[in-house]
Amino acid sequence: MAKQDYYEVLGVSKNASAAEIKKAYRKMAIKYHPDKNPDDKSAEEKFKVAAEAYEVLSDPDKKARYDQFGHQAFEGAGGFGGGSMNMDDIFSQFGDIFGGAFGGGGFGGQRRQRTARGTNLRIRVKLTLEEIANGVEKKIKVKRKKQAKGVTYKTCGTCNGTGQITRITNTILGRMQTATPCTTCGGSGQIIDHRPANADANGFVVEEETVSIKIPAGVEDGMQLKVSGKGNAAPGNGISGDLLVAISEEAHPKLQREGDNLHYDLYVSLSDAVLGSSVEIETVSGNVRLKIEAGVQSGKILRLRGKGIPNINGYNKGDLLVHINVWTPKTLNKEQKSFFEKMRNNEHFEPKPEHSDKSFFEKVKDMFS
Ligand SMILES: [Zn+2]
Repeated sequence: MAKQDYYEVLGVSKNASAAEIKKAYRKMAIKYHPDKNPDDKSAEEKFKVAAEAYEVLSDPDKKARYDQFGHQAFEGAGGFGGGSMNMDDIFSQFGDIFGGAFGGGGFGGQRRQRTARGTNLRIRVKLTLEEIANGVEKKIKVKRKKQAKGVTYKTCGTCNGTGQITRITNTILGRMQTATPCTTCGGSGQIIDHRPANADANGFVVEEETVSIKIPAGVEDGMQLKVSGKGNAAPGNGISGDLLVAISEEAHPKLQREGDNLHYDLYVSLSDAVLGSSVEIETVSGNVRLKIEAGVQSGKILRLRGKGIPNINGYNKGDLLVHINVWTPKTLNKEQKSFFEKMRNNEHFEPKPEHSDKSFFEKVKDMFS
């Protein structure tokens, strides 16, 4: 069947201006809009043909080719074959036709053919501070919805696979297009064609799957990682949702985290503080031996560089800050008590803070400067 001339379709002359072509198409689009002509196949056909004509005549390059070669200009590979426009292409044209008054993505913008997406799954993963410091790969069992074996889908006829029902209404602002999710397909654009006995209404079965999750070093409590495509399946050829992994940090018995730095409260005995000592302390990368200088003061902070948490965004590592607390004995035997009585007025036991024995607040200030 010979194709109708595009100028005739829109009812304009070959010399029509771009504005005239646009105006003519606008009129046709409104007249033959499927929402205005439900179940009218001939109106739908006219609507499509008008859209096709406009697609060509509104594009200077295509129009020039059409003027020279007619319909032949668009035949063959990559050409603009007759009837190749689907409803979504047409609706996406509406952006130009009905103007930017409703914002960039407004008119027809949302009407694009969409790929159905499965829902996301959320899980929480508990990590020790050591796992956070070194990074870890966790294997986690996840119950995912998957398409059942043998299930088939077809394009939803109500929304033509767009997942949305679009209506054009007249308002005081002009014509407005409103889109609501299609209730037939639940917005996926696909409806079930053959449902196996074990599948749910969407053709899904729930299966347990072990998902391997690589957790980089330096994550923090409350952070969320995304494992693409490991959420629930979508109908048809849609894409699966994501698996969202919320990080939960287990408290460490000895180490406290502050950003990338770690804090450790070290208690040393009075004798160790007086005489000096060597102690072993726990870090996120194994135990470390630490020298306590003779005469160390309570409140001193020893900084172990790079013994903290690696920064998630870079190559830097936090430090481990060891806070010295001198433990004062609470009870003494007679002998010990008499020793300290004797020392009470001894000049060596009198506090003589030096510049290096800075107050706690000064030390904190230094730490962050
Ligand atoms: Zn639908």
